[in-house]
Amino acid sequence: MAKPLLEFTDRGIYCEHGDFYIDPWKPVDDAVITHAHADHAYVGHKRYLAHELSREVLYYRLGDINLQTVAYGETVIKNGVEVCLFPAGHVIGSAQIRVSYKGQVWVVSGDYKTEDDGISTPFEPVKCHHFISECTFGMPVYTWKPQSQLFTDVNSWWQSNVENGLGTIIVGYSLGKAQRILQNLDLSIGKVYTHGVIENTNEALRRNGVVLNPTHRITFDSPKEEVRKGIILAPPSAVGTPWMRKFQPYSFGYCSGWMAIRGAKRRRAADRGFIMSDHADWNGLVSAIDATGCECVYLTHGYTASFTRYLNEIGFNAREVHTLYGGEEEDATITENEEKKETAEVKEADA
Ligand SMILES: [Zn+2]
Ligand SMILES: [Zn+2]
Repeated sequence: MAKPLLEFTDRGIYCEHGDFYIDPWKPVDDAVITHAHADHAYVGHKRYLAHELSREVLYYRLGDINLQTVAYGETVIKNGVEVCLFPAGHVIGSAQIRVSYKGQVWVVSGDYKTEDDGISTPFEPVKCHHFISECTFGMPVYTWKPQSQLFTDVNSWWQSNVENGLGTIIVGYSLGKAQRILQNLDLSIGKVYTHGVIENTNEALRRNGVVLNPTHRITFDSPKEEVRKGIILAPPSAVGTPWMRKFQPYSFGYCSGWMAIRGAKRRRAADRGFIMSDHADWNGLVSAIDATGCECVYLTHGYTASFTRYLNEIGFNAREVHTLYGGEEEDATITENEEKKETAEVKEADA
């Protein structure tokens, strides 16, 4: 039997025919990047290929890289192998990578979310023979509420804080959740203030032509009383810092898929936990895998062991594979470096 089109190596997912890697975690010549999160987009590759809406965030995060960008549906040929990006619905610019050669089709999902979040190009199922999927939330306990309901909860919490004279701080990851929250807030309640780390990402996206709701970067002279009537968007690394404490009194809400687990809110000392994720929930994962019509599915990160077992039980041909993807959901250790970088920036802003 011929070698599979994609293989799992100690540098990342590799296509020998095309001589390129997908989301490699060690330096390579040719890297195709699903999205700009730290566990997928590393520094040190010679050439990068990514979706055009990832361009400015990649430059912001990785510096001066050699980057080629494409639109969804645009095909790039590498040594006879076709590479084409499809929307993953995870964050702005996130892509699934379809790799095809002589009738064999593989799709690498990267991270994905099946629900339309109103800001990322919605997830599109892609038919393939082999599907390489994440399963960050591959347990039945992870079932997300419809987005409309979620933001009704967020907005009414904000409204009641304003009525009670409390500030409002909402915490979510700087690329993805922050913009999703921003676009779904009820701006008739008040203004949106941003932590520097989030505003830097917003600015990169705006440079990329993304239209976001108006935001106000918090500075030393931001008037406290005004800020209290608005809502502050902050990254996880700001939690518990002096930067955050100076806005007291406030109510602090934490947005994460992990909030579906009992105790998660308490562990983060949050007043409110909002179950919000940029990843597919249990049903989303199963339906997305089913929609590919694949003959084999490989699970890269998350609850890989139990999810693989479940998929095999219900008739899929599933395999667990080892990668270094950790998921930027803030409990993952892979994002430690990024957290450190963000913490450093918070300290800078505080100095
Ligand atoms: Zn991601
Ligand atoms: Zn990830």
